[in-house]
Amino acid sequence: MKTFAHKKSLGQNFLQDKELSAWIADQIQPDRAPIVVEIGPGDGALTEHLVDRSEKLVLVEKDNMLAENLEERFSDRDNVEVMRQDATLLDMRPWYRHGDVRVIGNLPYSVGGPILKAVLTPPTPMTRGVFMLQKEVCQRLSAKLGGHGYGSLSLLVQQHWHVEMIRVVGPEVFKPRPKVDSAVILCTPRDPASLPVYDVALFRRLVKMGFSQRRKQLKNLLPDEIPNGGWPALASSLGVDVMVRAEQLSLEQWVQIARWFEGRTDTDRGQKASEMFDVVDENNVVIGQRPRGEVHAQGLRHRAVHIFVFDKRGNVYLQKRSHLKDAHPRVWDSSAAGHLDVGESYAACAIRELHEEIGAVVETTTKIAEIPATERTGMEFVELHAATYDGAIKYAPDEIEVGQWFKPATVTDWVNARPQDFATGFIECWRAWEANAKP
Ligand code: SAM
Repeated sequence: MKTFAHKKSLGQNFLQDKELSAWIADQIQPDRAPIVVEIGPGDGALTEHLVDRSEKLVLVEKDNMLAENLEERFSDRDNVEVMRQDATLLDMRPWYRHGDVRVIGNLPYSVGGPILKAVLTPPTPMTRGVFMLQKEVCQRLSAKLGGHGYGSLSLLVQQHWHVEMIRVVGPEVFKPRPKVDSAVILCTPRDPASLPVYDVALFRRLVKMGFSQRRKQLKNLLPDEIPNGGWPALASSLGVDVMVRAEQLSLEQWVQIARWFEGRTDTDRGQKASEMFDVVDENNVVIGQRPRGEVHAQGLRHRAVHIFVFDKRGNVYLQKRSHLKDAHPRVWDSSAAGHLDVGESYAACAIRELHEEIGAVVETTTKIAEIPATERTGMEFVELHAATYDGAIKYAPDEIEVGQWFKPATVTDWVNARPQDFATGFIECWRAWEANAKP
């Protein structure tokens, strides 16, 4: 092993306390986990308590010399992979195929924020996270309304994660010693059904505005144009005084503010049961029209189009269906998909769905395949279309939880490893694309 001088710029404060290291490693519950990712393994204080417990252990280390030492040390283990990589730029997409991705790290404090952003920002395959950071940052991440450090960071993270500060750690356990106390947080995913749906980007903007000047009242920080009766009406719907400040509102109230700006008054719905579809026979010939609810309840044959959108580099955009969907909630699906309206052609439906579902305006799509109606397509005669699109994607949160661009090879690996993560109709389409159009 090569001798090593600590690099302050890389936040290299190494844990010396074996008992504490073992305890932190246990918090990720590594035993038999499909994959554990350790960020900033350094000289292996946590790693030695992680190795040989999960099916796969990935060590992400930016310092080449430390990475080399780790490679040497674990060269006899084929389930340990060392990645020489800056964790602020971590691409987690190849790990969806493992299903349950646990991430742990005694993080370099200088870049703790960007690393957390890389692993916590949806979409992410992470299912559990254990991180050591400065105590003050951990307090902000985990604070609830009224708690010390409660602010925009608490809200922006807790909209997606439950964050719990599980241990405070003094500087004496590190070498060299940091100047401040540290703490360990545990992050677990929040159930999306625990909040009503809202526009995440708008929420972020409003929270940032609201907390931009701590002492000011919220009414002076939010945009002037507040729909439906202005600030007095919004404050009253929140049940708060008009003089309220940002930090006096809970996550649920902040979500309500975003929804107010969006003009959302209805209860959330994933789809309308009253839409009318053409019903078809076993040869895909129209035999009548029935409402959506009836078509699905009775398993009547009908028509749908799926569209795969590719960017210039050949990445495909997939969407994760919202928890509000009556069929296949919270699984991954084609870029856009939908039922043909009465009398509508597949091609026209493809262009309409792209616009309605993900805000993509395209002039034409290319037909890739026809897929017969079976249980796996939900009794839909599907046409698969492809389109090229590089613009912004904008989706309705009642329909789509989140979306992401993927390399086709990553999708193929993932579909093969975990078909349960996808709508069955999508898998039929993916196989058809591989057979007919894969470059
Ligand atoms: N895990 C070890 C421990 O607990 O003793 C080391 C923790 S030390 C606080 C942070 C580690 O992160 C160092 O090994 C450092 O080289 C590494 N590191 C710093 N910046 C990084 C980055 N951007 N990406 C990946 N690792 C990084």
